[in-house]
Amino acid sequence: MNLIDCHTHSTNSPDGNSSAEDMLKTAIKHKLSAYALTDHCEVNRWFSIEHYGAEPNEYDTYDFGADFEKSMKENTVLKEKYKDKINFLCGIELGQAPLDLGLADSIAADKRLDFVIGSIHQVVSYDDFAFIDYSKNDVDTLLKMYYDNMYSLCKWNKFDILGHITYPLRYIEGDKGIKVDMSKYEEIIRCCFRTLIGNGKGIEINTSGLRQAYGKAFPDLYWVKMFKEMGGEVLSLGSDAHCSEDLGKGISDGAEIALAAGFKYLCFFKERKPNFIKI
Ligand SMILES: [Zn+2]
Ligand SMILES: [Zn+2]
Repeated sequence: MNLIDCHTHSTNSPDGNSSAEDMLKTAIKHKLSAYALTDHCEVNRWFSIEHYGAEPNEYDTYDFGADFEKSMKENTVLKEKYKDKINFLCGIELGQAPLDLGLADSIAADKRLDFVIGSIHQVVSYDDFAFIDYSKNDVDTLLKMYYDNMYSLCKWNKFDILGHITYPLRYIEGDKGIKVDMSKYEEIIRCCFRTLIGNGKGIEINTSGLRQAYGKAFPDLYWVKMFKEMGGEVLSLGSDAHCSEDLGKGISDGAEIALAAGFKYLCFFKERKPNFIKI
């Protein structure tokens, strides 16, 4: 089975725990057909906290512009150093592009990037879904905003893979045990899929949920199958590891989900172009 891990973080992400080089050495041990580092780049926190005039709290970090530069420089050096050992891709996980499209345009245009994951972690006026108090906020209102933002992201189209499309469920269902009726969002998710497919873009199976309380991938088989049935061909796979121990975790289960949904190929992006590899 050919496996790829195209969603991972190093210490060039504020919540990463292993150096980029340690991640890369681990990926070599796993004999992956393609491996991407995709450090966080939250568009709405690119500048310093002073720039936004925001109140500090214990979880929000700023200055993602500086993290981005560190990540690009280090990945470029590592790519050359390990070029004979692994198919290493210099990626980024671009968060909240719809909150500053002009800035997102310029970040996504950086020529050092092989690959851009477009993600939504928070919606305007709210914290990241990881930090929301769900006893004080209406889940449906939040999820409606989440998928509206995701649709805006899809229409923006300057990324390659749409990240973890059921991300809020990690916290709402997984951590808080609040059951969500996802059928309410099926129509807008279908709109997202239609736009992605029309633009030759894709989704990922993010396997982090398999090792967390949620217990399923983001998204699970239901949505991957729907994407395939609608004509989707571009499917990525990522562990969303934030430390070398988690790198590659669940990706063979993710590949099984891909096969069960009818996919025969996985896709990774090199120099922003899709490459298909038989599972
Ligand atoms: Zn993410
Ligand atoms: Zn991530």
